[in-house]
Amino acid sequence: MLLYHILESNIMKQKILSVILLSAVSMILLPGHTHYKKESADPQITTESLTRVQKDSIRKCYTMELFEKHLSRIPSMRSRIEGIENRCQAYIEGLRSGKIDDLHPIFIPVVVHVIYNNEVENISDAQIQSQIDVLNQDFNKTNTDSNQVPEEFLDVASDIKLNFKLDRILRISSKRASWGTNDQMKFTSNGGSNAIEPRNHLNIWVCTIGGGILGYAQFPGDNINTDGVVISSQYFGTEGSAQAPFNKGRTGTHEVGHWLNLRHIWGDGNCTKDDFVDDTPISGTPNYGCPNYPTMHCDSNDMTMNYMDYVDDACMYMFTKGQVERMKAVFAENGPRKGFCKNQG
Ligand SMILES: [Zn+2]
Repeated sequence: MLLYHILESNIMKQKILSVILLSAVSMILLPGHTHYKKESADPQITTESLTRVQKDSIRKCYTMELFEKHLSRIPSMRSRIEGIENRCQAYIEGLRSGKIDDLHPIFIPVVVHVIYNNEVENISDAQIQSQIDVLNQDFNKTNTDSNQVPEEFLDVASDIKLNFKLDRILRISSKRASWGTNDQMKFTSNGGSNAIEPRNHLNIWVCTIGGGILGYAQFPGDNINTDGVVISSQYFGTEGSAQAPFNKGRTGTHEVGHWLNLRHIWGDGNCTKDDFVDDTPISGTPNYGCPNYPTMHCDSNDMTMNYMDYVDDACMYMFTKGQVERMKAVFAENGPRKGFCKNQG
């Protein structure tokens, strides 16, 4: 079974989306008057406008693309990931049958690496703490907007007992304006900052990624030296430089969800692709913005309000029981993040 395959259809959807965005921008710039047509002939205007539209209104996460790259480059990774997946499913069976004890609260020390090119990027301690607070709320279902979960999904809304605590902040001044998605920010030798004790610490790099990417994470089982989450500073936390509609800390929640082995809720493919969680409805596409309920794809209502969709921060507010089981499995005795179980809160 090819579990880890990005469908061409998904790439096609992104291309279609780009065309739609380009068309939308063209419509703004080309209202049918000769005067405006002349202005739109400047390719810089179109490019800049398109970039602005993509950056400001569309959630883009690079986790799956990076995962696919690593799978193709690192020969041993595929069997390692498949082993993690098999142990995850066995753990869930044991949990459901009562053969495995439920997870005790887990303490997650968080190291935040702030890599800044200017004072706006050098975010405040308060902005960093606001992101930690959101993680604690969202993963423990104490988020105030959890009361918006539709009745259809109330029974499956769930929480995992995680206690995130800021361990330290590292601040690194850099001449670099953006870092891309090649993990350069994760190495001091590249002008970034090395991961601190990744076997029992969550490392978060806050820097400008560029290309309209809000953030990306690394799934369990990948290179330990690059383990953690990267988030652009304007999508981090709830105050300071955080920008709407991604200023409620949910990029952090989404990416930490990946770090705990959750897939996108549409399974990064069409209606035949799953996210390996049986209580999330099958969907064939991400949702954007703030969709109306119900939104239907693949003959069922999408759980657009799930943290692992692509909607705006204010419109995502739940994990499911199945997702929580999957996250718990990474902390199991034979799980890839078992090192965290020894942490003392
Ligand atoms: Zn994602």
